[in-house]
Amino acid sequence: MNIPRKTKRPPGREEALTEVRAIYRELENRPVERACLRRTECCQFKLTGRTPQLTRGEAALAARALRASGRKTLPERDDGACPLLRADGVCLIYQDRPFGCRTHFCAAAGGPYARAEVLDLIRRLEAVDARLGGDGPRALPAAMRDELRGL
Ligand code: SF4
Repeated sequence: MNIPRKTKRPPGREEALTEVRAIYRELENRPVERACLRRTECCQFKLTGRTPQLTRGEAALAARALRASGRKTLPERDDGACPLLRADGVCLIYQDRPFGCRTHFCAAAGGPYARAEVLDLIRRLEAVDARLGGDGPRALPAAMRDELRGL
């Protein structure tokens, strides 16, 4: 049986989102050569067999970005691609895309980060998750639907 998750907005949310943004900025400033070319191959979940797993802070930031784009709910797709990928190949929330979209780069972008290269940032995301009452990483569609309900 599916038990609905708590979607009540937890205290300290703004600070948590500020921390998630700081984590993303720090990742961008790491001296590891990566260049996302926006080919969107990694956005094709059905083809890659991989769906980004979001901690609660990542999901909350992504949900807010989607809401800022004028959408109230997660777009529906039936082709197995990320619901945030527009038909023209643009990510609806690129500036606030989750950590996995930034680190599990395709070969063309330089390959994935080694876990050791970003372990400290993962730990910080986990700390934000705990602070927001999250249960650890969850698949992007479900994590975002819950956050959108709580906005
Ligand atoms: S959030 Fe954006 S970058 Fe990440 S998989 Fe979805 S469309 Fe691609």
